[in-house]
Amino acid sequence: MCTCDEFHEYKEEDYLQIAEIQHYQFCPRQWGLIYLEYQWAENVLTVEGTILHQKAHDPQIKEKRGKRIVVRSMRVSSPRLGVTGMCDVVEFIRDETGISIPKYQGKYRVLPVEYKRGRPKEGNEDIFQLTLEAMCLEDMLVTSIPEGCLYYGEIHHRTAVPLTRESRTQVKKVLQEIREFRNRKYTPRVKRRRGCKNCSMKNLCLPELPRTESAREYLARRLSE
Ligand code: SF4
Repeated sequence: MCTCDEFHEYKEEDYLQIAEIQHYQFCPRQWGLIYLEYQWAENVLTVEGTILHQKAHDPQIKEKRGKRIVVRSMRVSSPRLGVTGMCDVVEFIRDETGISIPKYQGKYRVLPVEYKRGRPKEGNEDIFQLTLEAMCLEDMLVTSIPEGCLYYGEIHHRTAVPLTRESRTQVKKVLQEIREFRNRKYTPRVKRRRGCKNCSMKNLCLPELPRTESAREYLARRLSE
């Protein structure tokens, strides 16, 4: 929840998309190519991810299942954090320590659920995205959300994720880094990583281009191989 020392409101034109933190945490250069240079490339993994999200964003926006209300494609934002975006799924679970919801009896606790293709990752990118979604929900609904869930399509499994103070602090730090790059309009340089192999942007990014070699030299070398 918001604390008084954080009271600062961003203008809407300065808002970041929640998804930016996921791309940036995976690879700052990938973030720069997408959000500063407006480049995009699909591969089989991004297409699978889109299909999974379309399922999560089923047109049935709200449904009640027993003690649970399930809301899909819920728009969220936070003027305090300067971000906006969409939660795949937000569940409201009957719990007398929770909040009231108009038109429903009782009280409910809030559980954001983010859908991802593949498996749990080594990095924190999915956890940071989920944490940021929860922080927006906390501001909007004036509640505390101690836990969220990540659903991974490849293993058909939902993992509970504690939304810790540490991850919230890191999320704010990463948002600040993103703003600094955005203000400078600077796309971070290549820093090769394991994720390059499956990155949909690799043909635009050219991660194998040595720093001492020009793009022209690189292409000539690759064509002659
Ligand atoms: S290919 Fe590697 S360095 Fe380039 S954007 Fe993708 S992950 Fe980042």
